[in-house]
Amino acid sequence: MNNNIFIYKTEEEKDYFRKAGKLAANVLEKVCKAVKPGISTLDLDVLAETWIKDHGAIPTFKGYLGFPSTLCTSVNHEVVHGIPNNKKILQAGDIISIDVGVTLMGLVNGQEFKFVGDNARTVPVGEIPEKTAELLAYTKAGLEAGIEASLKGNKISDIAKAIEKVAKSKGYGLVRDFGGHGIGPEYHSAPFIPNYTDYFTLYGDSEIKEGMILAIEPMFNLGVSDIRKLKDNWTIVTKDNKNSAHFEHSILITDGKPEILTMPD
Ligand code: MG
Repeated sequence: MNNNIFIYKTEEEKDYFRKAGKLAANVLEKVCKAVKPGISTLDLDVLAETWIKDHGAIPTFKGYLGFPSTLCTSVNHEVVHGIPNNKKILQAGDIISIDVGVTLMGLVNGQEFKFVGDNARTVPVGEIPEKTAELLAYTKAGLEAGIEASLKGNKISDIAKAIEKVAKSKGYGLVRDFGGHGIGPEYHSAPFIPNYTDYFTLYGDSEIKEGMILAIEPMFNLGVSDIRKLKDNWTIVTKDNKNSAHFEHSILITDGKPEILTMPD
């Protein structure tokens, strides 16, 4: 993660982010529609990679810190960073979090820069239990509450507070080790956007400013907050193996308000 906070002031740069966000949202929509019992997570990855390349863009995650794939596909108790695999076949009753980043190259003042759109959604595979459906709905509501709190002059902790409130209302476990982030020329950058508020007494807070690009991403668990990493060194799972949900949008702070960049057509 880059420790600088980036501020984008020109319409040119903002428009590149809008385009990258739109691509990321449209490919996520396409992949979510392909989710069904019997499909493998690798099938979804191939679909996404082909679509992104056909649209003249680059899969952000592939090769980022060594990650091998275009998508992170995290099934059931997997929280984030699941690696697509042809042996992982989706079954009715599963849930799958699909996270995708799209990089668009753009020219600003004759120099080439990267513009990234990042988004995720957790979707059901066929029919799912009521309790799990509720987990998805509330995690999405947590994301929406976080976005609403993303106003110029507010603090990053206001985003965390809004998300935490939704999780606490249902007694869900809130993943602490991962969270949202700023987006800069090398993708992840400051500020880290945790989904819980104790963080700020330890590490400090920062102000939300015009021109920031933020990825907000709550992860709520049906059981405990604790997580562990699998031996593949990527996949994060809940410690009690209960289901986890994850939703993410990239936003631009413009005219003092959040503009969601990752809205599909
Ligand atoms: Mg992200």
